[in-house]
Amino acid sequence: MPSLQSVISCLSGYDPTALPVAQANAIIGEVVEPVRGTEQLALRTALDRVLAEDVISPIDVPAHDNSAMDGYAFQSAALAAGGDVVLEVIGTAYAGNACDAAPTAGQAVRIMTGAIMPGGCDTVVPQEFVDVQAGGNQIRFAADAVRPGDNRRLRGEDLARGQAALAAGRILQPADLGLLASLGVAEIKVRRRLRVAFFSTGDELRSIGEPLDPGCVYDSNRYTLHGMLRRLNVELIDMGVVRDDPAALEAAFRSACENADAVITSGGVSVGEADYTKQIMARLGDVTFWKIAMRPGRPMAFGRIASNGREALLFGLPGNPVAVMVTFYHFVRGALHRQMGANVPPLPLMRVRSAAAIRKKPGRTEYQRGILAPAADGGWEVRITGQQGSGVLRSMSEANCFIVLGHEQEAVAAGDLVEVMLFDGLM
Ligand code: AMP
Ligand code: MG
Repeated sequence: MPSLQSVISCLSGYDPTALPVAQANAIIGEVVEPVRGTEQLALRTALDRVLAEDVISPIDVPAHDNSAMDGYAFQSAALAAGGDVVLEVIGTAYAGNACDAAPTAGQAVRIMTGAIMPGGCDTVVPQEFVDVQAGGNQIRFAADAVRPGDNRRLRGEDLARGQAALAAGRILQPADLGLLASLGVAEIKVRRRLRVAFFSTGDELRSIGEPLDPGCVYDSNRYTLHGMLRRLNVELIDMGVVRDDPAALEAAFRSACENADAVITSGGVSVGEADYTKQIMARLGDVTFWKIAMRPGRPMAFGRIASNGREALLFGLPGNPVAVMVTFYHFVRGALHRQMGANVPPLPLMRVRSAAAIRKKPGRTEYQRGILAPAADGGWEVRITGQQGSGVLRSMSEANCFIVLGHEQEAVAAGDLVEVMLFDGLM
């Protein structure tokens, strides 16, 4: 595992007091490595888990050429003459029941959807196009009702034997469970779940159920983090609120790192509070304190800590409730995916019209909370949720997307295109 210092020393123009988002993510990406443990799971319980190895199809799916329609199977040479085609019906092929009839040029077999194509047949004419004559022994249809090869599914067209069905790193989706079932796979190897410990810091924090003394606030970050982490399907270790006290903090960090793969804290990394967090971190590991060129979410600590021979990643997030979410989604989520061995493609950024002007200074990335909605002209447009303060959690609750204003972006005029990242898929 490369040390944080060695990764940072390879960067030119590294400035921890104005670190661009992309650079912070590049550093995190180099430091984080996947956990090694795996487990074997029955298919149904593997939903949302990370596939630990490639799955190679052991069979052809489908296993035989078969019919995509209820109709009549025949040899397409019969279409060549055009006009009306008249064929003698010599048998019936049902799904799941092999039919030994082998029609010759003037013959057809009545066939059900999914039934194996009889020998020599390459085309199925749907029954709706056919006149059944002679008490079911003969059919007549227009030659231009079908083309050669129509309504035939080819053996292996879904997946050929030996072909990679799913790649290691895939987070298993409902379709994947079905796909694996179609291969007859009963169990698969997935990575073990990550254990993530988290706590809030701050003497002003009160837990739900406690009286709210003057100047105090309820600890909401632990609930937000609980929700965001649950969605990542990790094991949670909720360590509660830890006082702004060096001994209590050190004990919490040690316990967290002895029990978890990653530790997430909120609060205590802003100027003024960072000083003693820094002293503790200097004793426990390799942690750097950044001011990231972003809004919200400027201060953040990242690194690795160790206690009693156990190591964990550390993410020291800012205390402000919106900053916690923004830094989680734009740094921690990707890092945890990487640590869990998941290969997750980037979420799409869509360009849509901004309904109103947005103030923005170049030199930092902003994640404004937006509402993307249909506009009067039938297109889509986005507007900010109003109050964008980093303590206004309502802005996250009301929004359905981030308006991502890139590092170089300047002020946005009404009607300009801006990039949005939908919360669906992210959360
Ligand atoms: P800090 O980063 O510790 O200076 O906190 C910045 C702001 O976020 C302060 O107004 C804190 O009261 C608030 N804050 C910190 N932690 C929490 C939390 N767990 N829940 C709600 N607000 C918090
Ligand atoms: Mg604090």
